[in-house]
Amino acid sequence: MKDADVIVIGSGLGGLVAGAMLARYGQQVIVCESHGIPGGAAHSFSRRGFHFDSGPSFYCGLGNVGAAADYPSLNPLRMVFDLLGQSVETIPYDPMGHYHFPDATLPIYGNGERYQEAIATITPTGAEELKRLETKLLGLYDALKHIPTLALRPDLAALPMLLQRYPWAMAKMLPYVLSVQGPISQWIDGTVHDPWVRRLLDLECFLLSGLKASGTVLPEMAFMFGERSRSVIDYPIGGSASIINALVNGLNQWGGTLQLNAHVERIVVSNNRAVGVKLRNGDILSAPTVISNATVWDTYEHLLAPEDLPVAYRQKGLDTPAVESFMHLHLGIRADGLEHLTGHHVVVHDESKDITVPGNTCMISIPSVWDASLAPAHHHVAHVYSLEPYAGWRRDDTYADRKRQRAQPLFAALEKVIPDVCDRITLELIGTPLTHAHYLRRHQGTYGPAIAAGQGMFPGNKTPISGLYRVGDSTMPGIGVPAVAASGILCANSLVQPGQTLELLDQLGI
Ligand SMILES: Cc1cc2nc3c(=O)[nH]c(=O)nc-3n(C[C@H](O)[C@H](O)[C@H](O)COP(=O)(O)OP(=O)(O)OC[C@H]3O[C@@H](n4cnc5c(N)ncnc54)[C@H](O)[C@@H]3O)c2cc1C
Repeated sequence: MKDADVIVIGSGLGGLVAGAMLARYGQQVIVCESHGIPGGAAHSFSRRGFHFDSGPSFYCGLGNVGAAADYPSLNPLRMVFDLLGQSVETIPYDPMGHYHFPDATLPIYGNGERYQEAIATITPTGAEELKRLETKLLGLYDALKHIPTLALRPDLAALPMLLQRYPWAMAKMLPYVLSVQGPISQWIDGTVHDPWVRRLLDLECFLLSGLKASGTVLPEMAFMFGERSRSVIDYPIGGSASIINALVNGLNQWGGTLQLNAHVERIVVSNNRAVGVKLRNGDILSAPTVISNATVWDTYEHLLAPEDLPVAYRQKGLDTPAVESFMHLHLGIRADGLEHLTGHHVVVHDESKDITVPGNTCMISIPSVWDASLAPAHHHVAHVYSLEPYAGWRRDDTYADRKRQRAQPLFAALEKVIPDVCDRITLELIGTPLTHAHYLRRHQGTYGPAIAAGQGMFPGNKTPISGLYRVGDSTMPGIGVPAVAASGILCANSLVQPGQTLELLDQLGI
C-alpha cells in the first residue's frame, strides 16, 4: 500500500521543480508544504492590497519575450514551464538596476557595451579589463548554452546521452573542464587589476552566491553575464507568486498534489530505506521515494533520527558553514512624484567596510514600477534587505527596539533612492532573522550553505538512505533561482530512465 510514488517535503523552487517534473514523467507525486503559502524563499504575501515578494526579484529569460523567446534559453525554470505546458507573463526592462557606492552610482545594463561605457566614465582602464573578462565568460556561457539543463542528470548515464545528443557543445566545453569547479577569481586575477572594477565584481558575486569572487564558482558568473547580455532581463507579472503558481498548476495538471499546512515531522526510515513521512497532525504518508527540499541542517537534524545516518556523514552535513540570515523591510509607500523611479538598487554604505558586513550592502526591489497591480493605485511596494546574523536574536523585551535599530541601514539605503521615503510610508513591516527562519522554515534563517568554490562542492541529490533524495540550495549546483531549479531537474532526471528524458527533449525540440 502506498499513497504516492514520490513525496516531496517542501514547496520551494527546488521541491516544486522536482515534484512537477516527476509528475510530468508519469509518477504520482504529493508535495507537503509546512507553510500556508507555497514557494519557500520565493513565496509572495499580501497585506492591505500590497503584494510583496519575500525573496527573489532579479530574473532573466523567464518569459516569452525578446531573446528569451528563442531556444535554447539557459533559464532552467523557463524550460520547466515549457515542459509542463505553463508560462509566465513578464515585463522586460533594462538597466537591471543601479549600484550606489559612496563615490559613484552605476547603472547595470544587460547590454555589455552600455555597461562598459557606464564603467568607463568612472575608470576607462577598468572598463577595458572588464570587457576582456566578459569575453572570456561569454565563451564559457556559449559552450554551456547548447547543453540544456533539462538534459542533465547527476549519474554516469549522463555522459553517453550528452555526447550523442550534443557532441559539438560537449567538444566546446573541453577547454573549460579544468576550471569549471574553481572560483571566478582565477580568471579575474589574470585579467582585472583595476581596484574599482574588482570591488564591483566582488559585489556582483556576493549578490549571487552570498560570497565574494574568491568563493563564487566560475560557471555561475558566466551564466549571470551571459543571461544578462544575451537573454532578456524580465520581471514576472504578479511577482514571484506567478512563478510558483505556474509550477503548482503544472504539478496539478500532470496529476500531482500540493498539501499546504502539511508540516513533515519525520521521514519514516525502515531498514535503511525511506518509506514515507509522518506529518505533524499524525498522518503517515507512504511512498518508495522521498525528496527533501528542506535545508541540509533541517533534514539531518529534524527530519531524520541520528541513527538513520552514518555518524560521520551526518556530522559533515550539520557542520556545513552557513551564510547569515537577513533583516527585511517591506513597505507600502505613496508614489506621487516618483514617475522616474527604477526598480532595483543596491546600496553600499561604507567603503571602508567589507561588502559582506551586515547592514553595509542593502538590496532594494520596487517591482511595482513594472507591475502596477502589486500595489493599490498611486502606491508602490518596496522590499529592502541586508544580511544579518541569527545569533543573539530573541523575542524578549528588547526585540522591538533592536528590530528598529537594525532596520536603520535599510531605511538609510532607501533614502538614497527616495530621499523623503519616511514621509511616504503607509504600510511598514520589519522582518528579522527570526521572521525569516519562521516563515521560510530554514535553519537559523540562513541564505544557504557558504561553500566556497575550490574549497568544497555542493553535495548531490543522493543520500546514504535508499529512496531518500535532497533538492534545493544545499545541493548541487547551489543557491539562487536558476541553481535550485537545476537541482530539481537533476534529481527528477536521476529517478527516470535516460530514454524518458530524451523523449521530453524531443517534444521540446532541444
Ligand atoms: C531575500 C532573498 C532574496 C533573493 N533574491 C534572489 C534573486 O533575486 N535571484 C535569485 O536567483 N535568487 C535569489 N534568492 C535565492 C533564492 O530565492 C533561493 O536560493 C531559492 O528560492 C531557495 O529555494 P529552495 O528550493 O532551496 O528552498 P526554499 O525556498 O527554502 O524552500 C524549502 C521549502 O520547504 C518547506 N519546508 C521546510 N521544512 C519542512 C517540513 N518539515 N515540512 C514541510 N515543508 C517544509 C519550507 O516551508 C519551504 O517552503 C534570494 C533569497 C532570499 C532569501
